[in-house]
Amino acid sequence: MYDLRAIGTVQSAVTQSRDMPLQGVPAVINVFDEFVAGLTGLESDTHINVIGWFDKADRAPLMVRPRKINPQLEKRGVFSLRSPVRPNPLSLSATHLVKVDGPLLYVEPLDLIDGSPVVDIKPYSAGWDAIFWARDTHSAYITQHMAEGDVLAELFREAFNFHGEKCAAIAVSAKIAYEAAQALEANVRDIRLQLPRNVNPHLADGLVGVSKATMGNARLTFSEDPDIRIWTATRSVSYRVFDISDSDAQHVLRMSADQLFSKQ
Ligand SMILES: [Zn+2]
Repeated sequence: MYDLRAIGTVQSAVTQSRDMPLQGVPAVINVFDEFVAGLTGLESDTHINVIGWFDKADRAPLMVRPRKINPQLEKRGVFSLRSPVRPNPLSLSATHLVKVDGPLLYVEPLDLIDGSPVVDIKPYSAGWDAIFWARDTHSAYITQHMAEGDVLAELFREAFNFHGEKCAAIAVSAKIAYEAAQALEANVRDIRLQLPRNVNPHLADGLVGVSKATMGNARLTFSEDPDIRIWTATRSVSYRVFDISDSDAQHVLRMSADQLFSKQ
C-alpha cells in the first residue's frame, strides 16, 4: 500500500545497537547509484536530516522503557520517545554534513548502526527546524538515573549544537549546568542566568545552549558581578570560573568541578 525504498545504507564502525552511544558516532551514508542525482545542491549545506529505518526494531509495543538508557525509567508511550520501538520504525537524525564525495555523505554524528537502510535525506534548516523556545520533557526524562558522565555528554551535545565548536569553554558550561541543576534540584531548562558583562562569549553560548535562557524570555541577564549566578524561584548559586584556556573539551569534561570553578 505504501512503497518505501531505501535510497542508501549507513557505513558505521558500530555494528550492534547496544554499542551505539546516545550521541551517535561519525558515519558515512552510501547513496545508491540510481539516487545520486538527487544529491545535487546538497554539498553546500552544513547539516542534514537523515531518515533511516530501524530494520530490527520491535514494532508492536506502544509503551516502552528505554532500557538501553536506563532500565529504572518509567514506561512512556512510543510517540513521546525516540526509541527504535514504534509501529513504523523510522529514525530521524539531524547531523553535520562534513563532506560529500560522489555517492558518499560523511556525517557526524549518526546513531544508525552499520548497514541500516536510509530512506530519505532532507536539508536541515536552523530557521525551520530549530525551535529554540521548545520545552521538551524528554531530555529530563532520559537523564533521570543516568550516570554523571552520560548526563555531561548530553549537556555538551546541546551546548555544541548551539555554539558550533567543541571548545573547552562549552565543556565548562556543561559542568556548571550539571552542578547547578544538582544544587538547585532543578531542570536545567528552568534555570535563570545572570552573567558577568565580560563573560567569556563561548562560555555564555554554552550556558544559553543548555538552558535555553534568553533575554527575551527574561531568564538571561547581565551584571557587573564577576560571578555567574544561576537561580530558580527558591534557590541561588554562584560560580567563579578559573582560567582553562590551555585545556581541551574532553579533558575539561573529565576534570572535577572544583578544578574548574569555585562555588561562591
Ligand atoms: Zn568556542
